[in-house]
Amino acid sequence: MPETCAVLIVAAGRGQRFGGSGPKQYAPLKGQPLLRRTLKAFCAHPGLGPIAVAIHPDDQDLFQAAAQGLPRVFPVAGGATRQESVRLGLEALAATSPGLVLIHDGARPVIGPALIDRVIAALKEAPGVLPVVPVIDTLKRVDGHTVTATVSREHLVRAQTPQGFRFSDILAAHRAHAGESLTDDASVLERAGGRVITVAGDETNIKVTTMDDLARVNVSLSETRTGSGFDVHKFGPGDAVMLCGVRVAHSHGLVGHSDADVALHAATDAILGAFGAGDIGHHFPPSDPKWRGAASHRFLRHAHDLLVERGGALVHLDVTIICERPKVGPHRDAMVNEMAKILGVTSDRISVKATTTEGLGFTGRQEGIAAQALATVRL
Ligand code: MG
Repeated sequence: MPETCAVLIVAAGRGQRFGGSGPKQYAPLKGQPLLRRTLKAFCAHPGLGPIAVAIHPDDQDLFQAAAQGLPRVFPVAGGATRQESVRLGLEALAATSPGLVLIHDGARPVIGPALIDRVIAALKEAPGVLPVVPVIDTLKRVDGHTVTATVSREHLVRAQTPQGFRFSDILAAHRAHAGESLTDDASVLERAGGRVITVAGDETNIKVTTMDDLARVNVSLSETRTGSGFDVHKFGPGDAVMLCGVRVAHSHGLVGHSDADVALHAATDAILGAFGAGDIGHHFPPSDPKWRGAASHRFLRHAHDLLVERGGALVHLDVTIICERPKVGPHRDAMVNEMAKILGVTSDRISVKATTTEGLGFTGRQEGIAAQALATVRL
């Protein structure tokens, strides 16, 4: 029977350097409290036991929202310092008699199973395990703005969490050194004479301290997705067609329920497709009279608004218009600029291309216009 490995998440700090509204560990990250992402990473690991979270007494409601529905997670009232919060958390976990414990900063939400496994595995060799990353920048000692010395990087590393410990050793060390101001738990065990060894940390395992850190974590958690769209409208009576929101004079118009802007329809479907939000017909049913003759920029903007509501951003939109006539080239810049305006993005994120089908098929016979689009989004 393997030993139970408990987890203690430290989330009682007030985050004086953060600058957001409220404590950083509850700041929104991808639509959920930052702490929830941290907790989910540990809940998802199959080898772990109870998960205590040291919280500030004022944060009960925030914690309940962040931990809702997560198994094995329970709060412990933290203390005035980080070290005191950890000691109180360890005292609470002692009732479950774990063999090992991982102690982790609540504000490090990008924590993966591989790092957790490395720390646990190394606990076979020493009572304390510390994940570390190299110091890359040159280090200077300064007095105000004046450099007083260059500090050698040799033998220096940066300490991360989760730090792993034999439970009885770290509990005894915290009891023996209560009231000191040590900033991590490895140093508490060191102070008590315990051996701490290192394993490779992870550069993505950022501790969120400032709003800039939060933005970096947001980007590191983003994924890129692609959606495609395709549409066709046939020619009918008229003297102009709408393409990419631009009116282009022509011997015919395009037939459709809305303004029949085939290019914007393909673009709208591409954006919706990139985040699995259905298609243009689902959002704007042709059976609904309110969309009769509607300007299609409303469809495109709506799709983009939905994307932004989901925390996404358009990276690039590439539209291809397929027809013999009218000629698209003279209007290309206007089309790019119009779509950029509709979407509120810079024009370098928009591409409009045109092709013929060499006289073949329905576009070759000039019976209508087809358009296809590819949207790249960051989600
Ligand atoms: Mg259409």
